Amino acid sequence: MPSSIEWLWPPGFKGESWNPVTGCEKISPGCAHCYAELFARRFPESASYSPNYLPGTARIVSHFDRLGKPSSWKRPRFVFVNSQSDLFHESVSDQFIGQVFATMWLARRHTYLILTKRPERAWHWFRSAGWLAVNAALYASGIRVIPGGTDGPNWPLANVWLGVSTENQRFADQRIPILLELPAVVRFVSYEPALKPIDFSKAFDPSWRENQNVPDWVIVGGESGGKKARECVGGIEEAMRSTHAQCRAAGVAYFGKQMGRPWAKEHGDKGKGENMQLWPEDLRVREWPKIVAPVT
Ligand code: SF4
Repeated sequence: MPSSIEWLWPPGFKGESWNPVTGCEKISPGCAHCYAELFARRFPESASYSPNYLPGTARIVSHFDRLGKPSSWKRPRFVFVNSQSDLFHESVSDQFIGQVFATMWLARRHTYLILTKRPERAWHWFRSAGWLAVNAALYASGIRVIPGGTDGPNWPLANVWLGVSTENQRFADQRIPILLELPAVVRFVSYEPALKPIDFSKAFDPSWRENQNVPDWVIVGGESGGKKARECVGGIEEAMRSTHAQCRAAGVAYFGKQMGRPWAKEHGDKGKGENMQLWPEDLRVREWPKIVAPVT
């Protein structure tokens, strides 16, 4: 379904959500007011959202019947993979993740964005089962490619971006270094919900790692989640201003998504504070990293 998420609409693309997996489990403080959970509570009858998300007794479901969806979209789209779950949850099998990647390789006119709070699982998947699982999925679909050949899928896939969510310094320090080891054409960080200030100096300095990688893109947003949404310690404006300054100094693309519900309430705005016209002028910045033209 078309997405209302602002960062899924770079010029010339249509933003889309594709949920081959539904259901999840909370893993860190950023999950407290999980969007998927709120959505499932609000629309429990809707089978297209997250029907199996039962807080506390989450049931993770891999939807084989949704794997064909991207092939049915004719024009290039910018696709958020699993906006209602986490593809790298332990309950999603290596084989199913392989099928998702095979789908993305086959429908490569689209650009796919995978966001996880479980980069460790992603790391293990890429190092162990990953490539074989993708090729097995292609083989099962009757598609023959030469293993390791130039006509088959190779890491990184040219149309798949990988990202991690971080809500504070602890999880930034834990998740970003793993992200930077994953094979991806674009690596991004979703600093949402921004709960505490983050110093990105280590993340943005390649000399801290053997691989010399740094994130290509940082998205920042205050918490949107319902009436109990939390304000960022020190204020969301300061968190955004500091992140923008750090990104600019490091040459990293920056995207200000929303101020969050507490800020919106305080400033007479509705919803989650996504109307940029109401923001301080210096914070009205929405950039994307360089987008490789899709393969059509
Ligand atoms: S990882 Fe994402 S989808 Fe899963 S519980 Fe946390 S916020 Fe919700």
